[in-house]
Amino acid sequence: MGEPVTLPPLEVDLELIRRLDRNGPRYTSYPTADRFDKGFGPAAYIPWLRKRAADPDRSPLSLYFHIPFCNTLCFYCGCNKVITKDFSKSEKYIQYVIKEMRMQAALMGERQRVEQLHWGGGTPTFLTHEQMRALMGATRELFDLAADGEYSIEIDPRKVGDETIALLAELGFNRISIGVQDFEPEVQKAVNRIQSEEETLRVIKAARANGFQSVSIDLIYGLPKQTVAGFKRTLEKVIAADPDRLSIYNYAHLPTVFMPQRRINEADLPIAQVKLEILGLAVKTMTDAGYLYIGMDHFAKPQDELAVAQREHRLHRNFQGYSTHSDCDMISLGVSSIGQVGPTYSQNFRELDDYYAALDRDELPVMRGMELNRDDELRRAIIQYLMCHFELDKAALEREWDIRFDEYFAVELGELAERAAEGLVELTPEAIRVTPRGRMLIRNVCMVFDHYLRTREQHARYSKVI
Ligand code: SF4
Repeated sequence: MGEPVTLPPLEVDLELIRRLDRNGPRYTSYPTADRFDKGFGPAAYIPWLRKRAADPDRSPLSLYFHIPFCNTLCFYCGCNKVITKDFSKSEKYIQYVIKEMRMQAALMGERQRVEQLHWGGGTPTFLTHEQMRALMGATRELFDLAADGEYSIEIDPRKVGDETIALLAELGFNRISIGVQDFEPEVQKAVNRIQSEEETLRVIKAARANGFQSVSIDLIYGLPKQTVAGFKRTLEKVIAADPDRLSIYNYAHLPTVFMPQRRINEADLPIAQVKLEILGLAVKTMTDAGYLYIGMDHFAKPQDELAVAQREHRLHRNFQGYSTHSDCDMISLGVSSIGQVGPTYSQNFRELDDYYAALDRDELPVMRGMELNRDDELRRAIIQYLMCHFELDKAALEREWDIRFDEYFAVELGELAERAAEGLVELTPEAIRVTPRGRMLIRNVCMVFDHYLRTREQHARYSKVI
């Protein structure tokens, strides 16, 4: 880990973003999930679990649980979820997730140490208190949860009382992430997510009172009925709530891919110029309030562990976004979840029926995945480094991977020269550095190293910054 590095301040050049913004992956994995292969099933995955278990130098584990249920439908939703008010559905689901967890734990033999755990969704707080206790109880029985680990959960404040926050703290959670999206009543109505400011503030207050170490808020820009003035009010309220982290995601309107989005009135969507102004306002407001730009859509207070990890070159990117745990294998449980063990990715079935049927056959519900080759791993290391630290030390990479960078990446360097001419990167014989103006377009730089985009143009499948 070298000396701590403080990045120069982010520069927001809206004209540059407007001109150069392209559809591109968010690189929560490389290769991206759309490259996974249906030929990679349980038989390909299990040997890697066993190999991990036999390795005396194995890293601690990260666990991810996908809870797909939600009470009501948000019209902007692009997630894998099931809308229901029937808790017997989540009861059944939890039993299957526990079965899956037992099968994976048995394959690894002795109890594995866990340093990071996340419940995502859907809406994890859809679960009843008994279901939450059952799931966490089984997790503690099967795994050794480190006392100082990062245990996080996504919260929907509309359904969460103070007693639920107290229970989550009792179960060991110490970080929460709260979906807000926008506080303006007109916007909330247009996306079918009515969530009062009071509900959100009450949850934050309860989290602080129960000793949660980090509170994160998610906003979305580009939603119907959004205006610059309205989003300014939302940002002011968010800053007053004083979260440790904030994510501001772009709403990508893809009604042909995501059915719920068909219920959004397209005439209500802000035009590109307004979206751009909202983005500029959001970045300025957050940085003026003292938050640091971490990368992609994330901001954090300077003392937050993500900002500290970035300064100390320990930041990492995984399926939940940015993380401080760089060397964890990730076991993912539940429908549609994606895990990473050794040089493999594996994804579970997306539909509940398929997921249940596999477990009824006593098979792990792996639907697809891939085993990375050396070139994939090298490119993943480069993309990770650029995403997290905005620069690449060529000599360090040559030592670690036994390559001659300029020869191996001759084609990529040609393209990077174009990115340099656009003002996104600076190239020296020793390093590639993303400029302060280029940071918000970091994926344009990472895409140069994506072998799969080179072989098959599929940019249009991905979203943009604006
Ligand atoms: S946006 Fe989140 S809470 Fe809303 S329907 Fe989708 S998964 Fe559920």
